[in-house]
Amino acid sequence: MPTEIEIALSNLRERIDDIDTSLLDLLNQRAIVVEEVGRIKKEHNLPIYQPQREEEVYEHVTTQAKGPLPPEAIRQVFEGIVDQMHKIQRDKAERPKDGEPMMVVMEPGVTEPQIERVIARLMEGGFDVHRSTSAVHTVLGAVGGKPEFDTRIFEVMEGVKEVHRLVSPYKLANRAFRPQGTIVRAGEVEFGGPEIVVIAGPCSVESREQIEMAADIVADGGARAIRGGAFKPRSSPYAFQGMGEEGLRLLRAAAGRRGLIVVSEVMDATQIPLLCEYADILQIGARNMQNFNLLRELGKIRKPVMLKRGLSATIEELLLSAEYILAGGNYDVILCERGIRTFETYTRNTFDVSAIPVVKKLSHLPIIGDPSHGTGRREHVAPMARAALAAGADGLMMEVHHDPDHALSDGVQTLNPTQYMELMQQLRAIAPAVCRTVA
Ligand code: PEP
Ligand code: MN
Repeated sequence: MPTEIEIALSNLRERIDDIDTSLLDLLNQRAIVVEEVGRIKKEHNLPIYQPQREEEVYEHVTTQAKGPLPPEAIRQVFEGIVDQMHKIQRDKAERPKDGEPMMVVMEPGVTEPQIERVIARLMEGGFDVHRSTSAVHTVLGAVGGKPEFDTRIFEVMEGVKEVHRLVSPYKLANRAFRPQGTIVRAGEVEFGGPEIVVIAGPCSVESREQIEMAADIVADGGARAIRGGAFKPRSSPYAFQGMGEEGLRLLRAAAGRRGLIVVSEVMDATQIPLLCEYADILQIGARNMQNFNLLRELGKIRKPVMLKRGLSATIEELLLSAEYILAGGNYDVILCERGIRTFETYTRNTFDVSAIPVVKKLSHLPIIGDPSHGTGRREHVAPMARAALAAGADGLMMEVHHDPDHALSDGVQTLNPTQYMELMQQLRAIAPAVCRTVA
């Protein structure tokens, strides 16, 4: 039998191991950013060793030292870190060019001058070209170009059959960046862990009474988060536009009473401070998925962001939008499949369930499904929620209202309390089959 002291020590050591894992993750993130700095230095022939910048780093960390580690100890630790990071930059500078690898496949009947024109154009773009020619086929392997190089330029050149990029254009959102996956924490709630997190609530906050009732329904059903728009992106300028700050205040109060976290939409950069004050997760609506200025601003905050797929966005575009936020330094991004526009008109959107496993393969970021906007009709929400869970979603977002037929927005796709309770029961039954849980 282990003694009490042994148990206490073993628990504390487990915590230390967890902290070390987080430190390791952060150090690797730092190394990736440092590599990028190294790349820019090399490109502009700047020296790798910049003593003044190094002093700034030490100044930055030691002035923030609040103990128990004294500033001198912090400085020593960071000297070691900076030293190792310099090594990475030097190694990188000495290695041959990496850049973007791609492959240009030529048509079978291509002429020699056509091949030469493509090679010349590749070299102009900074690529090293490796040619392989058989009796019929010619393939040009190219490495070292700039990532932003537009490969379509080659697609339209004479004699070219097809062009393939060999690495993805997003780096930080790529699964390779964190193969083990990312867990995004909002309060006590974790997206990307074993629990499937349910976010439920009305499309919009309409009144104190409505949102208080919603909080009771949502919490009684077992959802961990309440949603409710205070700023609404409506297709018509004459439709209800949301209650603004008053709506956020009411939402926060109702959530607090029932121990729920708050998800609400931010429509433009000027609203970010307000949303940060009231919400635990900032939602970016489908219509704003490519509002790059807004995405850049969201990269600067330290709050989780839920990024919804645009109405006609490809999965790659969704991941590139996430990349904007990650590149700014905010790694807490949750993706959301909410249906896309297709030629089908029976449903409001086509809920792309297959995007869920695809995103899970391509990216380390958690992804949730929103079958309410995904289908636009309440009778189809439950089947698609079940499908999304089975397909590997890390969470679900559903619109729920005490009286959906009188909701001020999206009533048609909003579940009534009975439908919501039933769905939660079904989700609890399905989750174990895919090794997950629902609260
Ligand atoms: C919403 O969630 O209320 C919303 C407006 O969704 P979307 O941006 O996906 O249309
Ligand atoms: Mn809605």
